[in-house]
Amino acid sequence: MSHRATIDFLLYDWLQAERLCERPYHAEHSRETYTAVIDLAEQVATEQFAPINRLTDIHEPEFDGTTVHLPKETPLAMKAYNDTGLLAASKDAELGGMQLPTVVEIAAMSFFYKSSVSLAAYPMLTRGNANTILAHGTPKQIEVFAKGGIEGRTFGTMCLSEPQAGSSLSDIATRAVPDMAGDGLGPADWAADPLGPRYRLTGHKMWISGGEHEMGDNIVHLVLAKIPGPDGKPVPGVKGISLFIVPRKLVKADGTITSQRNDVALAGLNHKCGYRGTVNTLLNFGEGKFPVNGQAGAVGYLIGKEGEGLKCMFTLMNEARISVGLGATMLGYAGFEASLEYAKQRPQGRRMGEGGKDHSAPQIAIVEHTDVKRMLMMQKAIAEGGLALALLCAQLVDDEKTGTPEQAERANLLLELLTPIAKSWPSAWAQEANSLAIQILGGYGYTRDFPVEQHWRDNRLNMIHEGTHGIQGLDLLGRKVIMNGGKALSVLAERISETVTRAGQVDGLAEHANALAGALQKVGASTKAAWATGVPEEALANATPYLQAFGHTVLAWIWLELGLAAKAAQQAGQWDIGPLGTGFLQGKLACTDYFFRYELPKIDAWLGVVSRRDATCAQAQADWF
Ligand SMILES: Cc1cc2nc3c(=O)[nH]c(=O)nc-3n(C[C@H](O)[C@H](O)[C@H](O)COP(=O)(O)OP(=O)(O)OC[C@H]3O[C@@H](n4cnc5c(N)ncnc54)[C@H](O)[C@@H]3O)c2cc1C
Repeated sequence: MSHRATIDFLLYDWLQAERLCERPYHAEHSRETYTAVIDLAEQVATEQFAPINRLTDIHEPEFDGTTVHLPKETPLAMKAYNDTGLLAASKDAELGGMQLPTVVEIAAMSFFYKSSVSLAAYPMLTRGNANTILAHGTPKQIEVFAKGGIEGRTFGTMCLSEPQAGSSLSDIATRAVPDMAGDGLGPADWAADPLGPRYRLTGHKMWISGGEHEMGDNIVHLVLAKIPGPDGKPVPGVKGISLFIVPRKLVKADGTITSQRNDVALAGLNHKCGYRGTVNTLLNFGEGKFPVNGQAGAVGYLIGKEGEGLKCMFTLMNEARISVGLGATMLGYAGFEASLEYAKQRPQGRRMGEGGKDHSAPQIAIVEHTDVKRMLMMQKAIAEGGLALALLCAQLVDDEKTGTPEQAERANLLLELLTPIAKSWPSAWAQEANSLAIQILGGYGYTRDFPVEQHWRDNRLNMIHEGTHGIQGLDLLGRKVIMNGGKALSVLAERISETVTRAGQVDGLAEHANALAGALQKVGASTKAAWATGVPEEALANATPYLQAFGHTVLAWIWLELGLAAKAAQQAGQWDIGPLGTGFLQGKLACTDYFFRYELPKIDAWLGVVSRRDATCAQAQADWF
């Protein structure tokens, strides 16, 4: 099965993505070039990623004490991906890129996430890593460390977490001190190294995805560490954190990768519940296993300004958060497609007639049972809604980059606000969708003979990494909705109100437009109520229910937008042809109804505790549990 028709509907009927070609930056593009890129992505993902998704789950990465072994199919899949040129798709032509709109790039990526989320993680990390160097690095750092990632020659990681510092990054203990010893490659003066001020790093980084393997020419680690202050002690808080480029193999100033290992050693692999195709590592920096110029300490080059490491890393983290949301969504999609196919074929039970069941009649396929339809509808609403959300965010990235100054400013504010939703809404609900996919397959869904249990296991990660669900709620209510005097929230409210006005005049959608206007008003009122006393502990006591309600309101907005696009397409007689027939658009409209009738009403319960600043959980004592 393919979600291609929905991609086309979202890109062209809803987001009018061809209009981006009117901007000079994308002038070389057209719907034909978009189609060519998406066709290629769909083909490579289906032929090279999907067939080995189970294999990479069963054959986890192994470490023999010296080398990490991945299934031999993994590097072949990476090569196939790199050959598509997608790593450079949205980059400037002078960097070898295609200047493709991000929204089309993300649409193309969706096929890889659906086919194998854990294989897609390697290019996702590499892309974010290269983008961070592009945004904050010197021209030399870009030439030497970002280009390899863009061209698919090297891989990238993000090294933030430590065993004792996950959510609380201000507590990282990795240290960076000026490299007085010299690395034997660059100048003796640490501050004069052409690759950037040169430091030696010492510390442990936990959970590092893609941290050690033999693929590509090198691995470029982006590492957060603290430079000690004048008293020799690390500066407390996030202000003391700086960002460093730490290559796995040392690199000369002209970009030549040497065979000499940097002092970054693999302490061990983490054995995960899912997502097993991505190797996950505990890395020791500077323990002396691979001394450089006779000295322990991993060589790293400062990127960006000292003390601004977390700020720079947010380039990667924001991008990664949207990608995590898309990955979660596409796992939801994969489960939806698998359970739909199963439900159409599995005969079980009989229709309830007027006089009860006729046991002599043939059995019906379970897709005919109302409760199974409910489970399919919920999965469809989550998968298609989540995909729409990811594409909307991607188009905001395009507006930030190539829109008018006013479009760019509004897009920037909206993205800040929507990033916690783009990350956390699919992570929570597509997990639920995967659970429903298992439910539809009944006992078979609970076995490893079908793919749906793997989707569920793979998806369970997404509420944990890239800022846990709870941390996203704190970010949304504690920071995003109140920043700049609530400006971002006002921009969102304007956008939602525009949709409400348009939908209010359309038959079949006016009822939903009213409900959305009500939901927006309730979110606004509970934001104020939460902060009424100005005491953060009280305001944030129910930040997660707030996140859930906010997410559902945003998705209701998206579903109303999709309802409008479906109505317009119906009137224009589009999609009324071919094998999809009229059902395609009717399905979108039914999903809009579903979301407004079954999902949106849930926000009342969530916002109730927020508005009351309910302290039931806040006041509970550890010994009450
Ligand atoms: C498979 C996998 C891959 C990963 N890949 C990477 C990677 O490539 N690079 C990288 O740097 N990291 C990576 N991570 C780390 C990931 O980002 C962290 O696991 C995550 O940030 C949470 O940190 P923690 O596991 O230490 O949990 P903790 O921070 O200990 O959190 C445990 C629980 O306490 C809650 N909690 C913690 N603090 C607060 C608070 N202040 N208020 C309310 N609740 C709180 C959390 O929400 C969570 O439910 C990965 C993790 C996994 C599992």
